[in-house]
Amino acid sequence: MAFGNLNDESGTGVAFTRDPATGEKKLMGEFLMNAQGEDVVAGVRTPMPIAKMEEVMPEVFAQFQEVCKTLENHYRDMQDMEFTIENKHLFMLQTRNGKRTAKAALKIACDLVDEGMRTEEEAVLMIEPRNLDTLLHPQFDVVALKKATPVGRGLAASPGAACGRIVFSAEDAKAWKKRGEKVVLVRLETSPEDIEGMKSAQGILTVRGGMTSHAAVVARGMGTCCVSGCQDIAMDEENKRFVLAGKTYREGDWISIDGATGNIYDGVIPTVDAAIAGEFGRIMAWADKFRRLKVRTNADTPRDAKKARELGAEGIGLCRTEHMFFEADRIAAFREMICSDTLEERKIALAKILPYQQDDFEQLYEALEGTPVTIRFLDPPLHEFVPHTEDEIQLLAKAQNKPVSRIKEIIDSLHEFNPMMGHRGCRLTVTYPEIAAMQTIAVIRAAIKVQKRHPDWKVKPEIMIPLVGELKEFKFVKDIVVKVADCEIENAGIQLDYEVGTMIEIPRAAITADEIAKEAEFFCFGTNDLTQMTFGFSRDDAGKFLNAYYDQKIYENDPFAKLDQIGVGKLMDMAVKMGKAVRPTMHCGICGEHGGDPTSVAFCHKIGLDYVSCSPYRVPIARLAAAQAALSAK
Ligand code: PEP
Ligand code: MG
Repeated sequence: MAFGNLNDESGTGVAFTRDPATGEKKLMGEFLMNAQGEDVVAGVRTPMPIAKMEEVMPEVFAQFQEVCKTLENHYRDMQDMEFTIENKHLFMLQTRNGKRTAKAALKIACDLVDEGMRTEEEAVLMIEPRNLDTLLHPQFDVVALKKATPVGRGLAASPGAACGRIVFSAEDAKAWKKRGEKVVLVRLETSPEDIEGMKSAQGILTVRGGMTSHAAVVARGMGTCCVSGCQDIAMDEENKRFVLAGKTYREGDWISIDGATGNIYDGVIPTVDAAIAGEFGRIMAWADKFRRLKVRTNADTPRDAKKARELGAEGIGLCRTEHMFFEADRIAAFREMICSDTLEERKIALAKILPYQQDDFEQLYEALEGTPVTIRFLDPPLHEFVPHTEDEIQLLAKAQNKPVSRIKEIIDSLHEFNPMMGHRGCRLTVTYPEIAAMQTIAVIRAAIKVQKRHPDWKVKPEIMIPLVGELKEFKFVKDIVVKVADCEIENAGIQLDYEVGTMIEIPRAAITADEIAKEAEFFCFGTNDLTQMTFGFSRDDAGKFLNAYYDQKIYENDPFAKLDQIGVGKLMDMAVKMGKAVRPTMHCGICGEHGGDPTSVAFCHKIGLDYVSCSPYRVPIARLAAAQAALSAK
């Protein structure tokens, strides 16, 4: 036993060989003269910065510096050490690799390469992909956060920290933002109509919904902080106030939410903006050298697509076209389409939507600069688009020259007991082929225009059919697409390649992948639906009971966040093998939310997928995870 409290030539301390906050190469730590370890920990006496040791005991300090060098050289990493000095005699008590911030991790890894201690491969393996989130999103001020106690907790649905005044509707979010206010949008759940309001909010908090709920998926795409499924919130019937931890919150009250932990705090916790460190680019460039998997993005606006390109996306793996229908100027035409009674009426409404879609796609191709763009045709059940208020219904009735009662009848007829397993995805095309025909015209005309504008790019649209479960069903839709596309290309007198592929998101599609591959030119795993349908529980409602499953140790993780490799993964593995056996040239990807989860990315590497696709801000995480998977497999 060494005694640091023997006399004034003794002491104790803790130190890091490099700054764990910034990564700077300098000793960091504290020590106390004439003291034992507990005195430092208890905080009764104020320790001195480690640099002071040089003045107090220069020889011991010199020896300590030598020991630090030896330990770093041995472990080839930043060390976190404890030591005691007894009568000017240095005793090292403990050393371990030090914990560090994401910023420090990047700097230390790069410095270790520059100092010849680590290879580039090792540097890539030293970074925890998930921690990159903290570099890409605002965070709470660390000191303020330490003093705060959470008042509730939901799912950590989209990282970052947000502090703002509570609003309860998308319209209010927009209006308050216009007035220069920062807001947090609190909703029972969000729907596609809320997108504009979600864009105006610092953060989104929902009472219902899981990791693949609308709020979670859209917020991740936008890079906005989101806590979803906080069931402790008791919302009043009019959605105008709620009770959480015994306190009633009203419009305008301040609230802070942490999308990385799911924590909710009362009042204001200041946030600090994201700052990408200089070493970020170096690590990413090394990661890109070592990975085999390509990384694409899920994006349906030019803004998100551009952001994803900046963050290294090599294409779009999923453009959810339905998100494009909700902008104010086009929802009216879309509703007219839904409430059409005849094919003629529907065609008139679709013709109004066509120029918007074509313009959207042109902008996406431009943003993607000739890299692949996968466009997924209309997927959600139509009831998601219908008007809710009396005014909107009347407006629609007037536009279509129909009685209000007829519009209401149509809306009622769209009701389904289980819409996620209902009339959606390719089933919409089987009943209304003209929707797919319009989307095909928009995709192809946009591609032709952009190809002409940029002859050096290779614009090659990938048309993706959702929710396929049967070869003949896919073939039915593909025939429509091919007929329309070929006609457009012929009329334009231009050479344009395109592919028609399918999402694999229904277990039957995975099981019959060899059949489907006879027609499908690519597969993309929609693991949100594939997880939902394989487990047989709803991606929106499972949050209600999954906690009990974690408590009972039945499941370790949320299968909507981390891929269930044993079950869903088995279906994927099988489908890739069966699909590629029939069509060796086909490419296979993943575009469910798992495409940005590091362990799921590693699994995708293992089963031989060609790419993962994830929301823009998760692209760097996927790039790093893909490199780590490739390096670990070596
Ligand atoms: C999926 O099901 O994984 C998918 C990407 O489609 P969506 O989330 O739009 O249903
Ligand atoms: Mg899906």
